[in-house]
Amino acid sequence: MPWFSYHGGHSGEFCRHAKGDLQPVVERAIEAGFTHYGLSEHVPRYRREELYPEEQDLTPADLERIFEAYVVRAQELRERYADRIQLLFGFETERLPPSEWASRMGELRQRHRPDFIIGSVHDVDGTFIDFTAEVTSALAAQLGGNEALQIRYFQALSELVTTLRPEVVGHIDLIRKFDGPSASFSPRVLAHIEATLEIIVAAGAVLDVNAAPHRRGLGPVYPLPEILALAHRMGVGVTLGDDSHGAHDVGVGLDACLRAIAQAGYSELCYFTREGGVVEKRRAALDDVHPR
Ligand SMILES: [Zn+2]
Ligand SMILES: [Zn+2]
Repeated sequence: MPWFSYHGGHSGEFCRHAKGDLQPVVERAIEAGFTHYGLSEHVPRYRREELYPEEQDLTPADLERIFEAYVVRAQELRERYADRIQLLFGFETERLPPSEWASRMGELRQRHRPDFIIGSVHDVDGTFIDFTAEVTSALAAQLGGNEALQIRYFQALSELVTTLRPEVVGHIDLIRKFDGPSASFSPRVLAHIEATLEIIVAAGAVLDVNAAPHRRGLGPVYPLPEILALAHRMGVGVTLGDDSHGAHDVGVGLDACLRAIAQAGYSELCYFTREGGVVEKRRAALDDVHPR
C-alpha cells in the first residue's frame, strides 16, 4: 500500500518562504503514513535579480551555500530514517538564468546525483509568474495579453522537459495561479498544452498532481481537470505532490489530488522507489494508494 508525494519537503531551514526545519517535515511524513516521500528543495538562483523577494539580504553565493547544506542534510536524513520511510532526495528546477539554466541544472544533477528532479518553470523571460497577480498581469500586458503569456510559459516548459528529462513535471499549469477557481485555457493555448504533454510522454516523465492551489484556496489542484483528462487520454502518467513548505503542509490536500486523478479516468498512479540505491518507477492501482 504505497503512499507517496514527490514534489515537496521545502523547509524553512533551506528556503525563506517555507517554515521550520527539514527534520520535522520528515517526522510528520512518517506520522502521516507515507511509505515514500520526496524532498525537492528549490535550486539556488545565480543572479541577484533572480533572488526571491524574501531573499533580498542574501547573495547568489549564499543561496549556493544553503543549497549545498540542503543536499547534505537531505541525504543524511534519507539514511537516518531508512528503516521507517523511503525518503527520496531531489530538487525543483528553475529555468534560470535564462541563458544558462540548462548547464546550471545539468551541473547540479551531475554533482549531487539526486534520486529524482521536479522539472518546474516559475518564470517567463526572467520574470517570476507566481509571485503576485500584479507582476504577472503586467508581464502579460507587455507580451500582448494573457494568451500570449500562457503560450510562452508552455513553450518554455516544453523546452525544459526536452532538455532535462525530469522524472516529474512540476505543477504543469502554474501559469494560471492567479486566475482563481474558474481558471480555464483557450483552445489555442490548449493546443500548446497538448504539445507539452506529448513531450512529457516522449521524455518518460510523469505529472505532479499538486495540492498547493487547493490548500491555499486558489482553485483546483494542478493540473486543471481538462488537462488531466487530456493527459490520461494521451497516456501521461501521474504522481502526487503535496508541495509542502513545512511540516504543517505534509500530505494536506492529497485527497483532492486523488479525486481529480480518479475523475480524469486514471485507474493507476506512478511512484518512485529506491532499491539498492537505484530509483525505479512503478505503478500502483488507484485503490491501493493510501496512507499505511
Ligand atoms: Zn517554494
Ligand atoms: Zn514550484
